[in-house]
Amino acid sequence: MIAKSLGVALVTGAAQGIGKAIAMRLASDGFKVALNDLNSKKEQLEAVAREVVEKHGQASFVVPGDVSQEKEVHEMVQSASKTLGGLDVMVANAGIITPLKSITDFDIDDWDRILRVNARGVFLCYKHASKEMISRKQGGRIIGASSIAGKQGCLKYYPAYCASKFAVRGLTQSAALELGEHGITVNAYAPGSIDTPMLKQTYDENPSEMLTSFGESGQPEDIASIVSYLASKESRYITGQTISVNGGIYFD
Ligand code: NAD
Repeated sequence: MIAKSLGVALVTGAAQGIGKAIAMRLASDGFKVALNDLNSKKEQLEAVAREVVEKHGQASFVVPGDVSQEKEVHEMVQSASKTLGGLDVMVANAGIITPLKSITDFDIDDWDRILRVNARGVFLCYKHASKEMISRKQGGRIIGASSIAGKQGCLKYYPAYCASKFAVRGLTQSAALELGEHGITVNAYAPGSIDTPMLKQTYDENPSEMLTSFGESGQPEDIASIVSYLASKESRYITGQTISVNGGIYFD
């Protein structure tokens, strides 16, 4: 049975990790969910879509595509909105991290690749989601993935990743200023160490200790719960913020 819906949320990078947890949480909150990830992850994405329906009785829709390509983001937003009946929440979660490398050897292609997904991709999601939300005149919630590395350049040997996550904060603040008059809030989350395939890749490359107050990494659901709040009506007066969820590694 399909449950009553609060609206429509689109989540990028939803095949695994934090994106999957966000999609499951928003579905459990009562949103219909459109799920994006790369074409190469289509099977994983379809499995998440089935889980959404089975566990939460919400409609789900798979919109594969590369967030760094404007045409694909435009089509993804349009088809999600058309199929599920609007767009109320956009979560620009997809991101990548480069191999550990000193700035002196850092390849320009790696720099471009990281910025293309983590900064340009988030910008394109904000752009096309806000256009759709403005045209529907019902406000909305736009939420992006920054990082603890977007608050402090604290990851040695990941210069492009740190720069890309700072970019998300600046973009979030500027878009928030502009979109408030349309009833759209724009915020970001800044995770510390969250137990996902990306974190495993980072630790395998650089197993230095990340000290948290709790002595352990967070779970994807810890990020999903702040996104749930930012997507809710209760967060109406919060905008332009990048909210740390880092277990006390760093205090704002
Ligand atoms: P992950 O690697 O487990 O999942 C990211 C997903 O994004 C993957 O499924 C991947 O296929 C998808 N993706 C990559 N490029 C894409 C593209 N061009 N178009 C569409 N999808 C694409 O990572 P995660 O740990 O779940 O991270 C999610 C977000 O949170 C990322 O933006 C990441 O930078 C950020 N973050 C994660 C941590 C952490 O500790 N895990 C910490 C800080 C910030």
